[in-house]
Amino acid sequence: MEGLMKGKRGLIMGVANDHSIAWGIARRLAEHGAELAFTYQGESFGRRVKPLAEKVGSKLLLPCDVEDSASIDNVFDTLKSEWGTFDFLVHAIGFSDRSELKGLYANTTRENFIRTMVISCYSFTEVSRHAAAMMENGGSLLTLTYAGSVRVMPNYNVMGVAKAGLEASVRYLANDFGPRAIRVNAISAGPVRTLAGAGISDARHMFTYQSRNSPLRRTVDISEIGGSALYLLSDLSSGVTGEIHYVDSGYNIVSMPVLEELKQ
Ligand code: NAD
Repeated sequence: MEGLMKGKRGLIMGVANDHSIAWGIARRLAEHGAELAFTYQGESFGRRVKPLAEKVGSKLLLPCDVEDSASIDNVFDTLKSEWGTFDFLVHAIGFSDRSELKGLYANTTRENFIRTMVISCYSFTEVSRHAAAMMENGGSLLTLTYAGSVRVMPNYNVMGVAKAGLEASVRYLANDFGPRAIRVNAISAGPVRTLAGAGISDARHMFTYQSRNSPLRRTVDISEIGGSALYLLSDLSSGVTGEIHYVDSGYNIVSMPVLEELKQ
């Protein structure tokens, strides 16, 4: 099946390089005919994102640091003048000081707590508000989360708290925008080797553990996450909103390690 996104335009926020989850999503959307705009954080990421954006025929590549509301305003002002309206948004942005993504959660500093929350949680609410104002015929908003929001994952710490807030935001935004046929969902992805993923201490161990113990006995790749995003951003999922959709080889349903793992 092709062309699910034909005639639809959308903004992709969070590509850092070709390992990024946002890139896996963008590629799938472009294969299905979507017209895409991208944001990037700072010039050094910009140099990496430019050739990727060109690969999928995108003409709109805009700088955006979500810590700065003026930078967000600029993105949507430009989109308004270039496109007028659009149909979907992907928010694949997260950050916390890596020195606090290890050890005890209890040691999280006030400064890093606030910064993590603003970048990894509040930014989705802020960009959703701007995007919804430009969605005249309904739309779909998507963010990326991780199961550290609902269960304790070693070293995920304040990111887990931010993701819990992000998931609650998905539900509140879904209810705010539902009457205008704008849907809001999240994908809870299993571990993927990306820049952000590498910031978490012992990420390699988590990766191996989940690939041994999930029902599919492997981790997921960014094109599989892209496939689920395609469903959530296209009209195929027109009756779905406020959902946290796991794309994690089923790891979240398992309560104990497989026996071989226990014996090691
Ligand atoms: P990535 O490093 O490729 O992407 C993270 C992006 O966040 C980068 O593009 C970075 O520029 C952007 N970002 C950080 N601070 C920003 C700021 N102030 N302003 C604008 N952009 C900023 O890593 P990824 O794994 O693809 O991460 C994308 C999303 O997926 C994140 O929300 C992450 O928490 C989530 N996620 C990742 C995994 C994983 O294992 N990698 C699992 C589940 C969820």
